[in-house]
Amino acid sequence: MKALLKAADFCQAVQADFTGESQIDKKDKSPVTVADYGVQAILGRALGEAFPADSMIAEEHSQELLAAKGEGLCKRLLGIWKSCLGEEPGLADLAAWIDWGAGNPAGRQWVLDPVDGTKGFLRAEQYALALSLLVDGIIELGFLVCPNLVWKDGKRGCIFHARRGAGASLAWLGEPEETEVITVSAEAAGSELVLVESFESGHCNHALQDTLRRKLGISRAALRMDSQAKYGVVARGMASAYLRLPSPETPDYREKIWDHAAGALLVEEAGGRVTDIYGQALDFTLGERLLQNQGIVATNGACHNLVIDAIAESLGSTP
Ligand code: AMP
Ligand code: MG
Repeated sequence: MKALLKAADFCQAVQADFTGESQIDKKDKSPVTVADYGVQAILGRALGEAFPADSMIAEEHSQELLAAKGEGLCKRLLGIWKSCLGEEPGLADLAAWIDWGAGNPAGRQWVLDPVDGTKGFLRAEQYALALSLLVDGIIELGFLVCPNLVWKDGKRGCIFHARRGAGASLAWLGEPEETEVITVSAEAAGSELVLVESFESGHCNHALQDTLRRKLGISRAALRMDSQAKYGVVARGMASAYLRLPSPETPDYREKIWDHAAGALLVEEAGGRVTDIYGQALDFTLGERLLQNQGIVATNGACHNLVIDAIAESLGSTP
């Protein structure tokens, strides 16, 4: 928990003084920033110290960071580390923390997306630090830190937590000990429903999701935001359903587990339901991707079957 708060501070420090040197493009052309590496190193180190026998599956790897040795990105990473944490580790130390737990046996496996919604982070909009614990492929714990998500009274910064069987909670990042229990909303149908979807059109099917909205009789346009903040919004009852139908550009895309594990447990523990677009349970036992699932539907539970039926009618087929 302390490490998560430190990691959130690290992100905010990067965002407060973002320069071109804070970012590089990975081999797959997706952006990675000083914040991704900083957060993963802080959490990899803390988890490694607390749970040395566990493993971690995380989005970033030190390889690309080490390849950028001597470049602005590394200098900024070390500089922000010094100002946030008061320490001066070498690049090799950071690399070891980033890669912590990669080869360990997978029984107890931490799943980390250090900065989920990097594109939102770059636009100074929504992003999330997403950490969860899988035990034999079952999600047992989930933490979601959303530094830019409004908590209450215009105050920003939410920290969500869920433990299997024990419910879901929310706290303001400024007062993380003051948690409150959260639950999903109750509306089951019609114009009352509120949808939430990705901001990026390449990550979902905006057109089909809009068709579904009309079909369900919802007048309000879907909320759009980056990252697993969408799960947080459903879990606290501010949206009824998060729709993530595969983008027409990548119809065979299989979701990455670190983009969903923390959020999915959060919504379930808040009383909601999470499945793929065919209503199938998500299978987290198959490695980095949800190989047996397509897309995501996370709802308040009350409207779940209605949404799944509407999707089936629109697609006109089953898997
Ligand atoms: P979001 O902020 O909800 O739009 O999702 C961000 C995540 O989308 C990133 O962490 C990526 O792992 C993931 N992503 C990348 N490409 C795709 C794709 N073609 N379809 C669905 N998700 C994707
Ligand atoms: Mg992500």
